[in-house]
Amino acid sequence: MKSFKIPYIGIIKSKFTEPANPGLMREQESEIEVYEAFAEGLFKTELSDYLEIYFHFDRAEPYELKTFTQTGDFKGVFGTRSPSRPSQLGSTIVKLLHRDGNILRVIGLDALDGTPLVDIKPLHIPFGEEKLEEIEIHSRKNNPRKLILQNIRAGKTDRLLLDAAQIHGHFCPGLAMGVLMATKAMQIIRESSDGLEDLLAIVETNNCVADGIQFVTGCSFGNNGLIFKDIGKTAFTLTKRDGKGVRISSKAEGREYMHRAHPIFAEHYKKVVGGQNHSDEDIAQFKKFGIENAFATLTLDFDRLFKTEEVIVEIPGYAPTHESIVCAKCGEPTMATRIEMIDGIPFCMPCAGVSGSKLDGQGITLSKKINLK
Ligand SMILES: [Zn+2]
Ligand SMILES: [Zn+2]
Repeated sequence: MKSFKIPYIGIIKSKFTEPANPGLMREQESEIEVYEAFAEGLFKTELSDYLEIYFHFDRAEPYELKTFTQTGDFKGVFGTRSPSRPSQLGSTIVKLLHRDGNILRVIGLDALDGTPLVDIKPLHIPFGEEKLEEIEIHSRKNNPRKLILQNIRAGKTDRLLLDAAQIHGHFCPGLAMGVLMATKAMQIIRESSDGLEDLLAIVETNNCVADGIQFVTGCSFGNNGLIFKDIGKTAFTLTKRDGKGVRISSKAEGREYMHRAHPIFAEHYKKVVGGQNHSDEDIAQFKKFGIENAFATLTLDFDRLFKTEEVIVEIPGYAPTHESIVCAKCGEPTMATRIEMIDGIPFCMPCAGVSGSKLDGQGITLSKKINLK
């Protein structure tokens, strides 16, 4: 195999000495020291706002040609940015903050302290913004949960909460708790959901918490990755198909801890969500304290709020797919298993006068069968 030698032209100084989350590393400033022998090569470098930094992944694990990406995909190494690659060459785009002689102060570099530097180039993007957006859209089509997974890996619960509120509609400590619980479980299980039931969330309550869990885990009502156990506990289990899961539940003493952290919100929540008699002012106050308290919840001590345990779960089979049968009375296509046959004629449940179970604010409610005949 042919190869060539690359000289080290400098060294990277970072506060990270151990491999850490690249997302977190990129938020920190680092220093690039170019050796004196090459320092003249930095002349006018500061005219570029952004630089491409090339370095040697000198502490990378031996490579495998197929590997897992940061967002949980399994790919050939050349389709990833894994440090474990045949060339051991790393590259990152950084923002240049300041040059002082042979020292560049940058932000956005995800290299460990002491990493050998091999090259610096000004950033060049060979296409315009439109193309960049097209690339981003294409990448999101292939991994729709990419941004969420990146935020989970980086522990950015504030971003996740902000995004989870898109389905929840308001900010509240409950949603924040769901985000915290789900982020923790996802970090432990380290599996991404592609919405095909390989990852399951078993939720034990139907309240605000459940929306945080659905958003962060990607196990939702619609993709059958969400299992609802109607037992009224602020708890959930995240599990893979092998049944090895993690259950996170709220601690009794956590309630007191939380209540002390935001006493005013509890009052407004009771008034607005619990009661019918609330004014516009009550709603406005509820929203205001909701935002404050939701984000404050993220900063609370996780282990004081929640118990985390490994569990073995009995997993249901994959959701079956059923054909639809058209109801003889209303003409609406209906899942075959929900069809009532009366004298050999198919009817949907309402047309047959049969009611089943439903999930609403009360939980799962069951109604008795009305026998028409
Ligand atoms: Zn809520
Ligand atoms: Zn019908």
